[in-house]
Amino acid sequence: MIKAVRGMKDLLPPETARWHHIETIARAVFRCYGFQEIRLPLLERTELFTRSIGVNTDIVEKEMYTFPDRHGESLTLRPEATASVVRAFIENRLDQGAEVKKYFTMGPMFRYERPQKGRYRQFHQINAEALGGDAPELDAEMILLLLEILERLQIKNLELVFNSLGCSQCRPAYLLELTALFARGLRDLCDDCQRRSAVNPLRVFDCKSKTCQELLHQVPALSDQLCDDCQRHEQRVLELLDRFGVPYRKNPRLVRGLDYYTRTAFEVITTELGAQDAVAGGGRYNGLIRELGGPDHPAIGFAIGEERLAALLSQQQDPIPARPLLFIAVLGRTALDLAFDLVQAVRRQGYVADMDFADRSLKAQMTMANRRGASQVLIVGDKELAARQAPLKNMQSGQQQMVSIEGPSEILAALGSETEGVYGV
Ligand code: ATP
Ligand code: MG
Repeated sequence: MIKAVRGMKDLLPPETARWHHIETIARAVFRCYGFQEIRLPLLERTELFTRSIGVNTDIVEKEMYTFPDRHGESLTLRPEATASVVRAFIENRLDQGAEVKKYFTMGPMFRYERPQKGRYRQFHQINAEALGGDAPELDAEMILLLLEILERLQIKNLELVFNSLGCSQCRPAYLLELTALFARGLRDLCDDCQRRSAVNPLRVFDCKSKTCQELLHQVPALSDQLCDDCQRHEQRVLELLDRFGVPYRKNPRLVRGLDYYTRTAFEVITTELGAQDAVAGGGRYNGLIRELGGPDHPAIGFAIGEERLAALLSQQQDPIPARPLLFIAVLGRTALDLAFDLVQAVRRQGYVADMDFADRSLKAQMTMANRRGASQVLIVGDKELAARQAPLKNMQSGQQQMVSIEGPSEILAALGSETEGVYGV
């Protein structure tokens, strides 16, 4: 037996219905906030990620699926979406016009991590990116958008964690100070952090090691050393969150695992998923578009982890109402054509109908209808064919009524009392 690759899982029904629900809600909210969909390749040149995410990050050092193609060019399965969105923004000249460009995208990401609950090697994200705006109102809008998606999905017990990571004005001095501090207390840092602290000291904040985390409590936080502009920006974002009644916790040690963030950085965490507690994360990336060869446009984005969202949703009641299904049970080959005609007619009206073609016993077909959750079963055999009438059985009440099988209208009427067709007809 050939098995799926480790850390990559199949998404099966009924779980797929939950995902569909998540994506439908997300799309509706995106639309209200003026975000349009963008779909991007899963494969990019490796350089795109090393230059944007940063060479000393966990993602680039340990987690990327990188391989040479047949011509020896190094390609990477995308570990995140922002870099690709920025690449597409520059390449397609989407920077024309003064308005903020708002895009969302959904799809798989790939990271070579240790697979465990809530952590996979292929996982899915819902991403939102707003390019070309530096107003703090945009930061607040992004956070409100993220929270509205989660709220409309009725996800509870979430916490918004907020920090500011400064800018090219205030961060360099802080990094120098940090490097000097780490150089003195270097022996206690883990191997990774020792190596990184000289070249990219902020990454130490990302380390999961207890010793490193404890050491960090002794170092000053970047958020206390922001320049005036960064301070004003942060204050305004938080003021807006207050105005909209959004609770948040400031965490001066939140840096996020990617190098490109500036100023606003945030995460939404849950108490419901154990160790894998981050449901979504995002932040501003004011230097990234220029860094990747584009115009000097500021931007901000976030990513929601879909697996973790689906796991939270599955702890609640199923939000997806089951669509009533008509099942047609056929007795004998002669009735099959008419049953097939009826199933097609009902489907074409936007209702859910199905049948079985294998000429099984009535009992077997009734079991099948039950397992499929059919609300009504129409039983058609030679006798019904001759009478042009057949019994329609309501599977919940057990009641039966005779309906005309000349066409689908009487059957539809019986179904129609329960729901509209999927196309709203
Ligand atoms: P974590 O701290 O859990 O590793 P992260 O900071 O690496 O998360 P981001 O790069 O910010 O994650 O990605 C945004 C979201 O994508 C996360 O909040 C999480 O919900 C989800 N996510 C990240 N990595 C994985 C993974 N390997 N499997 C499943 N979901 C993931
Ligand atoms: Mg990670």
